[in-house]
Amino acid sequence: MDITLVHGDITQQKTDAVVNAANSSLLGGGGVDGAIHRRGGPEILAECRRLRASHYGGGLPAGQAVATTAGLLPARWVIHTVGPVYSATEDRSAVLASCYRECLRVADDLGAASVAFPAVSTGVYGWPMDDAARIALAAVRSASTRVSEARFVLFARDAYDVFASALR
Ligand code: ADP
Repeated sequence: MDITLVHGDITQQKTDAVVNAANSSLLGGGGVDGAIHRRGGPEILAECRRLRASHYGGGLPAGQAVATTAGLLPARWVIHTVGPVYSATEDRSAVLASCYRECLRVADDLGAASVAFPAVSTGVYGWPMDDAARIALAAVRSASTRVSEARFVLFARDAYDVFASALR
């Protein structure tokens, strides 16, 4: 698998799937979630509402992933995953690693060969970027998947630099 890094916006990626750093309600939020729904149009939210009404009545638990259409985005699918909120007192890194593994498993089910990831949990959920980068890269590297490109899309220049040094 190729692991690539870009400094950019997840909503612009022409990969088969893009990952949303969702919250467990699946009904939208800020950050990546807000950008995906804004640019992807109402079809994504409509499918999220159907998921809430069927399989995910209690919401999507942290560490899990589920796919919807990508609506108007250049990707074919959005894979929604819910990162853990960072805690300085409890080690939740297994949950963060699970987000990446579960996204790749869903991508395999879809037949998606390329997946673009944001830095899950590093926004409002407060995870320190260097630790999040290390966990994300290790999880993707060690996953058993048919995905041939995992692209990390870092919105801020300093986040890109942190991922680049973690990749080396
Ligand atoms: P979380 O709730 O999992 O912390 P956020 O969406 O708040 O998720 O933030 C996750 C990361 O994504 C942050 O580092 C944030 O700067 C970054 N980010 C915000 N908007 C975008 C975007 N359009 N494309 C890629 N990354 C983004």
